[in-house]
Amino acid sequence: MDIQGFVYTTSVVGSFPRPRWLKDAFGKVKSGEMKAEQYDEFLDDAVKLTIREQELAGIDVITDGEQRRVSFVSFVGQTIPGFQLVHINEINPDAVRMMKEQKAPITYWRAVAAGTIKDAPMAVRELEFARSVTEKPVKVTLPSPYLVMWEAWDEKFSKPFYRQPEDLATDYVKIVRKEIVRLRDAGAAFVQLDEPMLGDLVEAGEEPDRYRKFIGLIHGQKYRGFKDELSLGRDLMNEAVKGISGVRIGMHMDRWPVKGSPNWGIGYERLLPDVMDIKVKQYVLEYASKGSGDPARFIEQMPSDREIGLGVVDVTDSKVESPKRIADRARRAGKHLDPERIWLNPDCGFAPGMFRKFERRTAFEKLRSMAEAAEILRSK
Ligand SMILES: [Zn+2]
Repeated sequence: MDIQGFVYTTSVVGSFPRPRWLKDAFGKVKSGEMKAEQYDEFLDDAVKLTIREQELAGIDVITDGEQRRVSFVSFVGQTIPGFQLVHINEINPDAVRMMKEQKAPITYWRAVAAGTIKDAPMAVRELEFARSVTEKPVKVTLPSPYLVMWEAWDEKFSKPFYRQPEDLATDYVKIVRKEIVRLRDAGAAFVQLDEPMLGDLVEAGEEPDRYRKFIGLIHGQKYRGFKDELSLGRDLMNEAVKGISGVRIGMHMDRWPVKGSPNWGIGYERLLPDVMDIKVKQYVLEYASKGSGDPARFIEQMPSDREIGLGVVDVTDSKVESPKRIADRARRAGKHLDPERIWLNPDCGFAPGMFRKFERRTAFEKLRSMAEAAEILRSK
C-alpha cells in the first residue's frame, strides 16, 4: 500500500501495551525459569497479535507495538554493544522514591553506556519480522541521539569511556545514521526518532524541567540552560538525518503536562524557532492531553514541506474519545493545512516502557475511534 495521496493518514507513535502473558514470561526469563529461545516465540506471538489489532482497528501505517523492547529508549541496551541494562536501584537505591517525588516517571531498566558503543543493527530484525506478517506500511521508532545522551550517560558507568555526555551523543549519531539507512533499505515506510527530552524543554527555563532535574540527580548530568539544550538537541537531530533520502523521517516529542506548572497550556511553540530548523518531514506531537496547548500555534509556523502527526487521542486517560470528537480536533487544528500534511495519531505510545499500565482493550478502542474519525474527515 502506498501512502502517497492519503489524507488524514492514521498511525501510532510506537508502543502498544504488552499482553499480560508476555510480561509474565519476561519475569520468568529474568529469574531463569524460561529459556531465551522460548521467550522469542512469545515475542513473535505478541507482535503478530499487536499488528493484527492495528489492522482490525483500521490504522494505515502501523508499528510492531515495540513488543520486543523493554522500553522505547532502553532497547539500545538490548541491541548495541557498549550499552548495558542496569536496574535503577543499582544506580541509586533511593531512585524510585525520588522519582515519585519529582513526578518524573522514567524506565526502571536503564540502558547506560558502560563501554565504547559499537555499530549494530537495532531494529532491522523487528522490521523484517513485521513486514513478513503484514501488508501495511510499517513505521519504526528509534531513540534520538539527544535522548540517548541524557538517558544513557552515567557519571559512574560512562565517564571512563566518554568524558562528557556530548561525546556519547557524537558516537551514537554515527550509529543511528547507519540504522536509518538500513531500515530504509529493509523497506521501512517511516522512521521516527523519539525525542521526548526536547519536548520536555517546554517546561524548562532557568531551572531544568522535572525529567532533567531527576536524571541529573541520579546520573550526575548537568543542565546546560534552555537555549543551549535546545540548540544541542536541534544540531544532534540534524546530524542524525542529514542527507538521508528515500524514507519518511519524523520526530516525536513528548509533552505530558503537569497541573499547576507555569507552562500549563503552552505547547511546542516555546521551542520556536529552533524546532523548525530541524530537518525532519514530520513532527509527531502531543495535543490531546489537557494542558498541552493549541496546535494551531505550531502549525502556522511550519515550513510548507513539513507534516504534522497530530496527537488526537489521550494516552493518559482511559476514556475513549468519540470519532466525532477526534474529527473535530483534527479539523480545528488543520484549518489552514492541506489534509495530506495532517496525520492522526495518539499523543504518545500507550506503553513506552513494557510495565506501563494501560488496558490493551482501551488502547484498541481508542485506535478504532481514531480510524473512524479519519473516515468522517475523508468523507467531507
Ligand atoms: Zn511520547
